Amino acid sequence: MDKNELLNLYNTNLDELLKTASNYISPNIEFCSIINARNGKCSQNCKYCAQSSHYNTDINSFPLVDCETVKKAAYDAKQNGANYFSIVTSGKTPDESDFEKILDLIRELNKIENLNSCASIGILNEYQAQKLAKAGLKRFHHNINTAASYYPEVCSTHKFQERIETCRLVKKYGMELCCGVILGMGESVEQRVEMALTLAEIQPDSIPVNILMPVENTPFENYYDKIDEENILRTLAILKIANPNSVLRFCGGRMRLSIESQKLALNSCVEGIMIGNYLTKTGRNPQEDIDMVKNIGKKVLCTII
Ligand code: SF4
Repeated sequence: MDKNELLNLYNTNLDELLKTASNYISPNIEFCSIINARNGKCSQNCKYCAQSSHYNTDINSFPLVDCETVKKAAYDAKQNGANYFSIVTSGKTPDESDFEKILDLIRELNKIENLNSCASIGILNEYQAQKLAKAGLKRFHHNINTAASYYPEVCSTHKFQERIETCRLVKKYGMELCCGVILGMGESVEQRVEMALTLAEIQPDSIPVNILMPVENTPFENYYDKIDEENILRTLAILKIANPNSVLRFCGGRMRLSIESQKLALNSCVEGIMIGNYLTKTGRNPQEDIDMVKNIGKKVLCTII
């Protein structure tokens, strides 16, 4: 599908758009969860991020957490129905002194039955991608965040192309790729279509969709009105239509949608939910998500629930 066709679809009647997207959706909902394993003090200036050292945000920085903390969070996530669990660290690239420890954490995660390891540790070089694959990492997460044409408005300390190159390395070394976006950062409708088409070229296994949660004292602190519920649903639908083989996943900022809109999305285009807490924000009680999935007649794709 080309840019004009997707744009026309974006602007069509909402019910019809969601119905078209629903042609590609599976009957199951996949849960995943994360641990914020190292927080803050990042050298980059991503304008949405609470962890950037460029902005005076109210967060507690902490170094890499220990193995027991990661394992406990992983077992809790599994108990709540997650089948992927991700170690997430702040920073542009994996910190050299932490990288070997992160490989050990991945090996520990891989010992947990019916739970797939995932990591989100920044921009990779070839050596790091190779080492992660060798440690048995199942999936790597790295977002494009926004459209290439809008990237300079979001961050100036690294390039969009570096993100694309990391995605390419993840695939080259045989790991699954989780690669998505943050909506509501001031991008245009055309740029939402551009993101959908960029992702279609990358072909991620999973597309996490975040909706900006403006953070006080960041440049985007007042960006509450950059996208509304209807446009979030429209964007989710075109992301799914352009990427029929990728699992679209609700991540941070989902609660900016009403429960009714979340259900509409889960019935038409979204097939995954990141449960529990987000990086720097508290999430919803996982049981409420399990109940919501059951309530719409869908199943959580896991072995526990
Ligand atoms: S690179 Fe990651 S941690 Fe650093 S400012 Fe950007 S989003 Fe935040």
